[in-house]
Amino acid sequence: MKKKNVLLIHTGGTLGMVEGKPDNHLKPAHIHESVLKFVPELCELAHLESAFACNIDSANLDIPDMNTVLSTIRSNYEHFDGFVIIHGTDTMAYHASALSFMVENNTKPIIFTGSQKPLRHIRTDARLNLVNSVEFATMSIPEVCICFNSTLFRGNRTRKVSIGQFEAFRSPNYPVLGSVGVDIHLNRKHLADCSLEKTTFHELGHSRIGVIKLYPGFDASAWIPCMLKSGVRAVVVEAYAAGNVPILTHSIIPSISALTEADVPVFIVSQALEGSVDLDLYECGQKAKQAGAIGCRDMTFEAVITKLYYLFSKFREIKSTKLVEEMLVNFSGEIS
Ligand code: ASP
Repeated sequence: MKKKNVLLIHTGGTLGMVEGKPDNHLKPAHIHESVLKFVPELCELAHLESAFACNIDSANLDIPDMNTVLSTIRSNYEHFDGFVIIHGTDTMAYHASALSFMVENNTKPIIFTGSQKPLRHIRTDARLNLVNSVEFATMSIPEVCICFNSTLFRGNRTRKVSIGQFEAFRSPNYPVLGSVGVDIHLNRKHLADCSLEKTTFHELGHSRIGVIKLYPGFDASAWIPCMLKSGVRAVVVEAYAAGNVPILTHSIIPSISALTEADVPVFIVSQALEGSVDLDLYECGQKAKQAGAIGCRDMTFEAVITKLYYLFSKFREIKSTKLVEEMLVNFSGEIS
């Protein structure tokens, strides 16, 4: 059978890092030219070509980097059956979420991977992650995914959950899309259907998004004037569990009202990993809803931030009522 064409896009991350002097901290090195030398067996799985987007610790990921990866995919979309993006794990869930919006009506596998240990290390997880990702990239998977530790996740449902374990990612609110054991198993029931619409590509622009993480004693009122002065276009509140916020001492309700009255929508996500925000469950959620806050159901924080970037870029002068509506639309499987 003819081998599938897969494009490896290098962006950096631990996979290609080396120890720097004098204290052995990891920093980006030039591995992108030699991935295939380290893992030559990848060529048995697919006809591979490489592209270079950037070479950064993904903590430095910024919107122009995401646009570079997008344009690499766009200019090669017709010529390749699938894409593997080598990426740092720190912001992989953000970038995978962003691309799931940026490539609209995607029909091809776009698989992010990386590793917890550099490819040059003897006990590296990079080799297996690369092999599995390239194999998934040859399959009929019309999704932006993360492949890590023998598991395939929907990218915009994924969160980094471990700093030191090979099991670095989880998809708390959506079943895994595939797993690799002796055989490769695809969870077809939970894969997206292949779109029949034309694929379109959307660059992201920068928009100022405010974030508030609640903790007992937090005084929101001190920060809202600064946020409004800085020109925030939306605020995301990481609230407790089902979306609950303080309504007694240090009530956040006047702050939510001030933001919504200033036409800055307030979106609520949960500090809990599993489950869905429901502002009707408790008085502490309902008061937030009455003040104008919108519960983001089971979207990850990463999906919410990148969806906001996407919507602000796609609809430049979007009205807050339309933004609120669009945020709850399911664009690429990011919300139940
Ligand atoms: N700091 C690294 C990065 O995100 C961590 C990793 O790749 O695992 O680029």
